[in-house]
Amino acid sequence: MKRLKGIPVSTGVAIGYAKIIEREKLHIERKFILKNLVKSELQRFKEDVDFVVKEIEHLISNYSYSQENEEILTAQKMILRDPEFSKRVTTLISDELNSLENAISTYFTEIVDIFNNMDNEFFSQRLSDFEDVAYRLLSHTLKKRKNLLKKLNENSILIMENITPSFVTRVFEKKIQGLCTEKGSKNSHSSIIARSMNLPMLVSTMELLENIEENQQVIVDGNNGEIIISPTKSILVRYEKILKQEKIEKEKLQELIDVESKTLDNRKIKLMSNIEIPEEIDQVLKYRSEGIGLFRTEFLFIDCDELPTEEEQYKIYIEIAEKCNPEPVIIRTIDVGGDKFSRILNIAHEENPNLGWRGIRISLENISIFRQQIRAILRANVKGNVKIMFPMVSCVEEIIQAKKIIEECNKDLKKEKVKYVEDIEIGAMIEIPSAVITSDILAEECDFLSIGTNDLVQYILAVDRDNESISEYYKPCHPSVIRSIKLTVDNAHKKGIEVAICGEMASEKIFVKLLVGLGIDEFSVSPGRLLMVKNEIINCDMKNAEMLVDEVLKINTYEEIYQLLVNLG
Ligand code: PEP
Ligand code: MG
Repeated sequence: MKRLKGIPVSTGVAIGYAKIIEREKLHIERKFILKNLVKSELQRFKEDVDFVVKEIEHLISNYSYSQENEEILTAQKMILRDPEFSKRVTTLISDELNSLENAISTYFTEIVDIFNNMDNEFFSQRLSDFEDVAYRLLSHTLKKRKNLLKKLNENSILIMENITPSFVTRVFEKKIQGLCTEKGSKNSHSSIIARSMNLPMLVSTMELLENIEENQQVIVDGNNGEIIISPTKSILVRYEKILKQEKIEKEKLQELIDVESKTLDNRKIKLMSNIEIPEEIDQVLKYRSEGIGLFRTEFLFIDCDELPTEEEQYKIYIEIAEKCNPEPVIIRTIDVGGDKFSRILNIAHEENPNLGWRGIRISLENISIFRQQIRAILRANVKGNVKIMFPMVSCVEEIIQAKKIIEECNKDLKKEKVKYVEDIEIGAMIEIPSAVITSDILAEECDFLSIGTNDLVQYILAVDRDNESISEYYKPCHPSVIRSIKLTVDNAHKKGIEVAICGEMASEKIFVKLLVGLGIDEFSVSPGRLLMVKNEIINCDMKNAEMLVDEVLKINTYEEIYQLLVNLG
């Protein structure tokens, strides 16, 4: 038996069998092509290399935690951009009529042979770079990556080095028991999505891959941040009991499905859902969510080869709007950038992606893509239950500009005689300190505000939400964060509009009462967390919650605030 520590992303216990997802063996057939296919094979070569280069750039900017790691990735990029590589593969295709896979494989085999014949440590290190990059490119070219999930089943605990947001969305359809990764951080988008699946999960589990073997029995303890590999009989029995108890508690929560979300003294607090992919709508309906408070539409733009058209987007939005009707659906416009990378939106490599091209900045620079999305959202508002929300707003000018585009789209749709409800509510996400400080100004231009604490904590405390090595600095109940929430709520209420909270803080049990006391009108959380949050809301009264806020506002340190909330919880 082995026990390894990790950072818990999602609570609960899972027992299952390790399914390690890593490289598959690639089988390259010696295939040749007809002369008339040379042009298309060369085009495919260019596209595949561009794809993998972009992917590597993304890894460099988001997942390279050490200098060494970055150097390896940079070297791989250089290998792919080496003119000799391009020249040789082109010759192999054009003159010798090799298929693309055959040509790439031949080139790398030649290089590996040359390096193998050099008895030199420097070259043997470079050799692994070549092998790695060959694998990356060939697995893409062979479209092998899509099959990685095949081996997962209902007893699986997914084990990976790291997991990307686009990959985790694909895991969604597999009913696995839990996840554990060697890298990753608690507040990355992959973790948020995994949490929404309500699966016990650990990230940043040291030396995971060298200590685990395929099909070994494992226990993921998301409550204590531990994975137990090949547990002893007595440990297994203990965890089976915990699992049973968790099941009973979950079932008890089910009894709250039809209970209204309001405090003991009857203050109505709306309880809505965050979704990332349309498939989550079933969970939203199952838990009788009062609508969708955040639909992260960027996932339509991340895991695809072409931009979704207006029509494609419209079909998705209208289906969700109809299924939720009469409850509201808040559609957030694309928020790529940061750790959400979209190769089709062509974002160049950035030194500081979280401070770069993100959210509404990208939309306002890519007006035609923005207009398509706005038109699709407006058209989906046939029953009047759709709202638009903008991410990463840093100043009121952005809202004014966006509203102008909405107006223009409205005019065009009118001319085209499209039927929909023209009056649409508009909201801004409060995620950046400048938006908090000017929330009174933003409130004048908006119909609602929604606080995105995942980013707000990142930007207020200057701590990268995706960097596991500084995760101890990521403090959602830091006095500065609590004051920011209070200022935003007070400013919005003075202007007569409501404030939602849609960051992960809203679904952490210990924060619910505090947020209620701060005056939050609406909680938007992963569907799987709805009942837990409801249980907290219906068991608190406003007077008590406001007294808690008064007490917390008098405390100067994060540690003391945190301890107070933990003790109360
Ligand atoms: C947030 O930042 O809190 C939020 C809800 O948006 P995202 O996690 O998608 O950045
Ligand atoms: Mg955000």
